[in-house]
Amino acid sequence: MDALGDWRRTHFLGKLEEKDFGNEVTVAGWVQDIRNLGGIAFLVLRDRTGTCQLTLLKKHHPEVWEKLASLPRESVIMAKGPVQANNQAASGMELVPTEAKVLGESKTPLPLGVADDEKSDIETKLDTRLDNRFIDLRKPEVGAIFALKHTILRTMREHFHKLGFREISTPKIVATATEGGTALFPMKYFENDAYLNQSPQLFKQIMMASGMDNIYEIGPAFRAEEHDTVRHLNEFISVDIEMAFSDEEDVMQVLEDLVYQSVLAIRNENPDELALLGVDPDIPALPFPRVTYTECVEYVNSQGVEVEWGEDLSMEAMKVLAKKYPDWSFVTRWPTAIKPFYAQPYEDDPLVCRAFDLNYAHQEITSGAQRVHDPEMLKANLKRMGLDPEEFDFYVKAFEYGMPPHSGWGLGIERIVMILAGLSNIRETVLFPRDRYRLVP
Ligand code: ATP
Ligand code: MG
Repeated sequence: MDALGDWRRTHFLGKLEEKDFGNEVTVAGWVQDIRNLGGIAFLVLRDRTGTCQLTLLKKHHPEVWEKLASLPRESVIMAKGPVQANNQAASGMELVPTEAKVLGESKTPLPLGVADDEKSDIETKLDTRLDNRFIDLRKPEVGAIFALKHTILRTMREHFHKLGFREISTPKIVATATEGGTALFPMKYFENDAYLNQSPQLFKQIMMASGMDNIYEIGPAFRAEEHDTVRHLNEFISVDIEMAFSDEEDVMQVLEDLVYQSVLAIRNENPDELALLGVDPDIPALPFPRVTYTECVEYVNSQGVEVEWGEDLSMEAMKVLAKKYPDWSFVTRWPTAIKPFYAQPYEDDPLVCRAFDLNYAHQEITSGAQRVHDPEMLKANLKRMGLDPEEFDFYVKAFEYGMPPHSGWGLGIERIVMILAGLSNIRETVLFPRDRYRLVP
């Protein structure tokens, strides 16, 4: 194999244009296909921006021919040569290499095809694809998902920055369950028992007592949920905010703006990727509808699906509701008893609380609330939910020396990417998903 030496890429393949015609360029990428006709061969080279035809001429450039003409597919090469118009080639141009390097030869056969898979294969072969993710990601429509994810994450960070939020990082190795749930991964921490954190909830609330006011975190959350669904992962990336001196409506406005900005950003910056994925997400109308939990129960019941006031909304109920609210919508004013201990009850009606969910059709994207900031109420709630206030001492303490009212939410980034990219399985949105049966790669 050749050494890289002082060769450097001058152009991405998908960015070559008419003004480059006649110029010598250096390109790099993976050999997608070679059609060898004897004295002439057509090699399709691919990088993350697209493909270009390399036309190999045996008589004129025998050294290049020797290196490239019978190379296995998916090998990595670099080539130098002039770009020129060619009506026969797919992109209307070709490159005629005068020099080439083979930098990484591929073994055969490939464990997974790149260019020759049908769209339907892509949906059915998920396990093989995830086992060979590095090859799977070479497919432009798979790479497109991660281009969108990048744009969405970047847009969110920029939006938070504009609003004056600071980015923080909280520990993922913890001693106590956030909500006392059982969905925790235990681990050994020297001589103690510890867990992987299921949410930054307690830590971001503690920060509200620090005077930092508005914070966000984008980091992993771990849930040892045993169910195996198309919308749950055992490790996901949670976008969390917490805002001091605010109520639930304030943070709902931050959230709907964020969704709006994210859709706008991918439409502006990723039109090619959206086309590859075959989606055209609508720019959402602001504000999103706000529907109370009680209205939801009444509507769902009127449609013949029984839900009792005080029960969580089942998937069946959510699907009925999605007929009336097929896009983005908030469900507000939840029964206090089915929301976490830190959700603030309404002062005039404590059976309902200042918690909300953001849904897209029947899918939950975000849960949030104004939080309890009175330490006595917090301790009483912990007890009522069967949790031991002593274990939460490090948390409750932060409420006893000056804690402002505050609100926040947590959003699963994979859920929003899944929706905006039009995907039916959340695993598609993670490079190396962790689910009930998958720990490698
Ligand atoms: P669900 O009811 O969908 O299981 P949840 O109500 O248990 O979600 P929350 O604890 O409210 O989840 O977490 C906040 C957000 O984090 C959710 O709205 C969702 O976007 C995301 N999320 C939660 N659990 C998972 C998971 N297992 N995989 C991927 N995303 C998740
Ligand atoms: Mg929730």
